[in-house]
Amino acid sequence: MTVKTRFAPSPTGYLHIGGVRTALFSWAYARHHKGEFLLRIEDTDLARSTAESVNIILEGMNWVGLNYDNADHVVYQTRRFDRYKQVIAELLEKGHAYYCYCSKEELEAMRDQAEKEGTATYDRRWRPEEGKTLPEIPAGREPVVRFKMPLEGITRWQDLVKGEIAIPNEALDDLIIARADGTPTYNFCVVVDDFDMGITHVIRGDDHVNNTPKQINILKAVGATLPEYGHLPMILNEQGRKISKRSGDTVAITEFDAMGILPEAMLNYLARLGWAHGDDEFFTMAQFTEWFDLKDVSPSPSRMDLKKLYWINGEHIKATPNDKLAALLKDRLAIRGIRDTARPALEDVLALVKDRAQDLNALADECLYFYEKQTPAEADVAKHWDEEASARMLRFAERLEAVDNWNAEAIHELFKPFCEEEGIKMGKLGMPLRLVVCGTAKTPSVDAVLALIGKEEVLRRIRS
Ligand code: GLU
Repeated sequence: MTVKTRFAPSPTGYLHIGGVRTALFSWAYARHHKGEFLLRIEDTDLARSTAESVNIILEGMNWVGLNYDNADHVVYQTRRFDRYKQVIAELLEKGHAYYCYCSKEELEAMRDQAEKEGTATYDRRWRPEEGKTLPEIPAGREPVVRFKMPLEGITRWQDLVKGEIAIPNEALDDLIIARADGTPTYNFCVVVDDFDMGITHVIRGDDHVNNTPKQINILKAVGATLPEYGHLPMILNEQGRKISKRSGDTVAITEFDAMGILPEAMLNYLARLGWAHGDDEFFTMAQFTEWFDLKDVSPSPSRMDLKKLYWINGEHIKATPNDKLAALLKDRLAIRGIRDTARPALEDVLALVKDRAQDLNALADECLYFYEKQTPAEADVAKHWDEEASARMLRFAERLEAVDNWNAEAIHELFKPFCEEEGIKMGKLGMPLRLVVCGTAKTPSVDAVLALIGKEEVLRRIRS
């Protein structure tokens, strides 16, 4: 059997980080088993679904690099209405479904009653049964179609994450599968899609656990082989509450891009939310797919930890080749006014500074002074600049001018004799030198920085 999983987002806004984690586990499960991972856009809620959100999902999947199979044939529910209608007709014909003509008022009364008695909401008044006389069809009322849930017994499944789940069938309502206007309802579409797509493993958020027994019973009626189910616990925010945009949490995947998180770091971090492989924190997606198994997914919710996300991101930045990093930084540097990054070559700059930043924005900031002197912070000036500094820097510029073979070692060799002559410690040279050349006191070793910036430019900066 080829494993087939799917990610089935509803395009009603942004791509949620919880959705991406669901997609990641679904993807990893399929890749681990050399199976297929499919994408399905659940856009039947016409009032809330937009083409723009579909694009946001496609772009988000592309950004994180979760590649799905049959990319030219992504399933859109709105394109499948004929098929849903066909299955509804079949279920009606085979007696698995029936028309219900209840009015809104009748249903409301039933709901009140059921709340009092703690029973299923719908009293099955239109469900055909042997020896039962059905009510008279009210004139001019369009019926809904309801699915005949089993009345007795238990629907159970061995959840791949949560273990056995068993729901007494009497708690299951005769679900509406088609509205009065003929449009199919959500749970029904999911069933037909999972069946038609040949999904073997439904891996999704545990907010869908309540849907599963309904879907299992419809699948049985349709004659499908049941898929396995794995329900993933939700992600909590740092305060331990359900992560949500409303509470001000960062949830849209595009926001993490804006924060300067690398897609591979994002996935590495999400993989560790609720799943572990020993003490491994930093790994590649190739390792992850090799190691991944649903049985190692924790059944309890996991918490966001932004500090850890940034740490992992820093590790991925260090592991990214400099030419790739340079390409990734172009836009962020352009926004900061730096368009020409040929001298010094951005790759060389990155080799020097890339272990100093945990996100791409901070990394871009670290590169700026190689191209343009920054405006120093007043506190740094107060701390490191004194009245002698100007004259001293000009004296040091003369030494620099005399260096023929401009490199870090040659520059470094100037420091000791100069400090001795001036009767100062290295800090009294290094810090003002950083300020006058770079405009910041926070740089890697100053000889290496000066070497990269170049002789002419260093002298120009000191002397102006
Ligand atoms: N469309 C559902 C959601 O976005 C997922 C349904 C499913 O995976 O079965 O939550």
